[in-house]
Amino acid sequence: SDSHFPVPTCPAEVDYSIHYPQFDGLTKVQFADIGCGFGGLLVSLATLFPDTLMVGMELRDKVTEYVKERINGLRTTNPGQYQNISVVRTNSMKYIPNYFEKAQLTKMFFLFPDPHFKEKNHRRRVISPHLLDEYAYVLKVGGIIYTITDVEELGEWMKSCLEGHPLFKALTEEEIESDQVVELLTSATEEGQKVARNGGQTFPAIYRRIEASFLF
Ligand code: SAM
Repeated sequence: SDSHFPVPTCPAEVDYSIHYPQFDGLTKVQFADIGCGFGGLLVSLATLFPDTLMVGMELRDKVTEYVKERINGLRTTNPGQYQNISVVRTNSMKYIPNYFEKAQLTKMFFLFPDPHFKEKNHRRRVISPHLLDEYAYVLKVGGIIYTITDVEELGEWMKSCLEGHPLFKALTEEEIESDQVVELLTSATEEGQKVARNGGQTFPAIYRRIEASFLF
């Protein structure tokens, strides 16, 4: 249960200097990989955005420990690199606002999340109208939420939740094509690689956090 891991009561309480000892302690995390699994995306993004701090959030203890080891190993064999990525064990469905301030994040990733097929389990899905309110809160205006799945029904669900939310707008085809991160959603994640090996289809939904518009 959740009582087995410490939960910060607010973002100011999170000691990021432990996670990023080579940074100044003032720089804030900007990318969050939710349900990061084995950390493949973080590892790819680390060298692509060397000045951006990123964190993976993972519920499973052993998987989190594996990602920690993986990052430590990379830091050791590549001095000066991979200093900008880290991982925390947490339940992202409960504690996102404990970790991030309003408008702190510029990218959030929800890659190949668990499908929770049954209707009664839809409330366990990491994308839902209610949780999108939280994600909109921690995302900066202009920030991007990336989702992808190989489960068509879940893809439709994530898309319809995002489409129905007033604070998110779909990226255009041109925006998607010019975003170098998009291809990593499948090529850099362990789940995406598995799907690609099996020749499976994927269903992305990529949306931008927009300003609230008031219609009077
Ligand atoms: N994103 C990775 C990838 O694409 O390779 C992993 C995908 S895996 C199918 C889903 C991951 O989400 C699992 O590692 C699982 O433990 C994690 N997860 C599920 N619910 C979570 C939650 N509430 N908070 C954090 N992580 C969660």
